[in-house]
Amino acid sequence: MSLSEIDLHQELKKYFGFSQFKGLQEEVIKSIVAKEHTFVIMPTGGGKSLCYQLPALINEGTAIVVSPLIALMKNQVDAIRGISSEHGIAHVLNSSLNKSEIKQVKKDISNGITKLLYVAPESLTKEENVEFLRGEKISFLAIDEAHCISEWGHDFRPEYRNLRSIVKRIGDDIPMIALTATATPKVQEDILKNLGISEANTFKASFNRPNLYYEVRPKTADVGADIIRFVKQNEGKSGILYCLSRKKVEELAQTLQVNGVSAVPYHAGLDAKTRAKHQDMFLMEDVDVVVATIAFGMGIDKPDVRFVIHHDIPKSIESYYQETGRAGRDGGEGHCLAFYAYKDIEKLEKFMSGKPVAEQEIGHALLQEVVAYAETSMSRRKFILHYFGEEFNGGKEDGVDMDDNVQNPKKQNEAQDEVEL
Ligand code: ADP
Ligand code: MG
Repeated sequence: MSLSEIDLHQELKKYFGFSQFKGLQEEVIKSIVAKEHTFVIMPTGGGKSLCYQLPALINEGTAIVVSPLIALMKNQVDAIRGISSEHGIAHVLNSSLNKSEIKQVKKDISNGITKLLYVAPESLTKEENVEFLRGEKISFLAIDEAHCISEWGHDFRPEYRNLRSIVKRIGDDIPMIALTATATPKVQEDILKNLGISEANTFKASFNRPNLYYEVRPKTADVGADIIRFVKQNEGKSGILYCLSRKKVEELAQTLQVNGVSAVPYHAGLDAKTRAKHQDMFLMEDVDVVVATIAFGMGIDKPDVRFVIHHDIPKSIESYYQETGRAGRDGGEGHCLAFYAYKDIEKLEKFMSGKPVAEQEIGHALLQEVVAYAETSMSRRKFILHYFGEEFNGGKEDGVDMDDNVQNPKKQNEAQDEVEL
């Protein structure tokens, strides 16, 4: 089918039941259907998956989707299977499959049934898989979480850097689509360069979240009491309280409970059953607050999270943006409150000390941005957007006054105090 013959809205409705594209989706999809290399930067929840899923369903052949997380791949495959009577329409190819399962996957690809094949980068680089895929009709390669390509990203994965050469071996003219939610200008440049995508084919959505209110408070010995007060003021609302350590998670969950707040802990040290139970309790609103490490949040789609508190400042602005981004998904109120003490930065620096020097340097640079964010007296929204390469000049409806620094500008003499050496 040529581009001009396809009614994209009709296809959207047919496969996904949506009547409108979200943001830049339509432009992105046109670029992919036209077989252009394409780079997509959209915040979490922006609807990146559909950008490659719809073209995959429309185009001839199988689209390969590289994704770093097996759990997320499985979710996506299940979702795609839900829209089709053909079970083989989406598959995961990884080391967990047995021989006969692999045979079935390959058969479905060869028969043109499989439109989406999800793979981890390690699986794609396997010689036997490259050999097999060389002989098949591949519509395009989508690289989800493409910031993993860059050492300057917050989740660098070396295997991601080999994807381009692998794709070249599978087919000479396979279009590549890179997608990410978190890309500073440096990371963006890295991705384009590594994959050889032209800047002209970059689609970048705004990272602005007008309904989120950003606030940083100094972290004192009374931080526990400060948190209780804040949560009590927001009684009955859903919120996430992020902590760095499992111990702190347990401790604060208990403190909240003792103070009459319904809260549950969530961290990787709990068994899978307890984690699932606590997550469900939060989603079903049996509890108001989940106290968690960063293990909580991936793929969590609760629209009415009203606040995200950071007991400990995260290790990068990317992480902070992603974690606070879980607030106010429905467009309603979302209060993002971070407690900051410089000694926490030193703690994070210390955690890195065992790592290779290059990683330490990058980690240090990322942390300095966090310090700058926490200590700035400028608009926090402006700061965050600038970090992602976006100039913010918005008005009230864009959330211009939605942060502590704009609402309570620091007094002149205070500001002067800060810069005295
Ligand atoms: P991302 O990967 O960018 O974080 P997802 O692809 O997971 O975002 O999509 C986020 C949510 O948006 C999903 O629940 C998805 O079903 C929904 N969504 C995507 N496109 C549309 C659309 N055109 N209309 C309505 N909802 C959409
Ligand atoms: Mg995604």
